[in-house]
Amino acid sequence: MSAFEAELQRRLEELESQSLLRKLRCVSSPQGVRIQVDGRELLNFSSNDYLGLATHPKLKAAAMEATERFGTGSGASRLICGSLEPHHQLELELAAFKGTEAALVFSTGYGTALGSITALVGKEDVIILDKLVHASIVDAARLSGATLRVFRHNDLADLEEILQWSGKRGGRTLIVTESIFSMDGDDAPLRELVALKEKYGAWLMIDEAHATGLFGGRRRGLAEEGGVSERVEVQMGTLGKALGSAGGYIAGSRRLIELLVNKARSFIFSTAPPPAASAAASAALVVIGSPEGLSLVNKLRANSSALKAGLRFASRAANSPILPFLVGDENQALGVADALRTQGIFVPAIRYPTVPRGKARLRFTVSAGHSSGDIARARSALLAAAENAAG
Ligand SMILES: *Cc1c(COP(=O)(O)O)cnc(C)c1O
Repeated sequence: MSAFEAELQRRLEELESQSLLRKLRCVSSPQGVRIQVDGRELLNFSSNDYLGLATHPKLKAAAMEATERFGTGSGASRLICGSLEPHHQLELELAAFKGTEAALVFSTGYGTALGSITALVGKEDVIILDKLVHASIVDAARLSGATLRVFRHNDLADLEEILQWSGKRGGRTLIVTESIFSMDGDDAPLRELVALKEKYGAWLMIDEAHATGLFGGRRRGLAEEGGVSERVEVQMGTLGKALGSAGGYIAGSRRLIELLVNKARSFIFSTAPPPAASAAASAALVVIGSPEGLSLVNKLRANSSALKAGLRFASRAANSPILPFLVGDENQALGVADALRTQGIFVPAIRYPTVPRGKARLRFTVSAGHSSGDIARARSALLAAAENAAG
């Protein structure tokens, strides 16, 4: 074994000894409520395809039509010759959907956070993050070179203390948080956050990855539900979750979008998204805005309440599709996930570094496609597995 291979081996063994080694599982079916994993059918409680749109006939038809017309690849970055009609169309529709002047589409949500945050703040500035924001936001904040401060999760008093400090310092301050948190499923106090950032003249960016399409009267997101959309400088979201496609977006003012086109490096130096992905996301916005979208969201909410009833899920948000079941110990969380898989139910054990050490959990995500029988099966399997783990 070469010294390089020996070093890799040592690192992998270290992960394994801490119950932190991860493996890929091959899924040989479409995304859905029932998936084929390593040759076995499992009832899926792990997907972010909350409304089942990833396999919706209208999205598939839109993707195929775009492929027929525009081919599979975009050929270049947006600023060279890859800025295809489906991208422009989607951006117009996203802006209309979000009620903003403009929108910009990126190839991934990860790249959306990375490019937009580094375009907005730099060495002279301060960036303030909620303790539990997604890795993409943490990486972006570090890459930006701005002075980084973290406030305790959803703790407004802690945030205000940091804002007092950054206000005295002068310069720009950007606060970044999520609306529905990806691993905890709880919601940010958006109205209070907006009031605070206005009091201190800071800017606010909200990542609605897990709320776009699911919350608010027009299902624009939690900012719409809280009535604060117009007071948030930067609204981010993803296209790969409830929207059943792939990519990310920023919605905001025309100037914001123009600046990102010029400054967001993950936008500039990356091939434009495949036309099929943008066309599918456009079709998703049509479904979400229709009566079918409303009934899917209502079904999702009913399923989430039914799964939660009487069980000790750690999520305070009403109607969250993400229901974490805290176990704590990494090894024990893997044990409960294994026990559920034996019962035919697929729920991932989420461990460090996705969540803090000792906060391992089963992260249930509910879909509008689950039947009441599916929910009942998951409930009884979880009760049995959790009892065994405790006993
Ligand atoms: C999934 C997610 C992202 C990244 O989006 P991708 O399109 O999967 O790259 C960013 N932020 C949050 C909160 C997410 O949950």
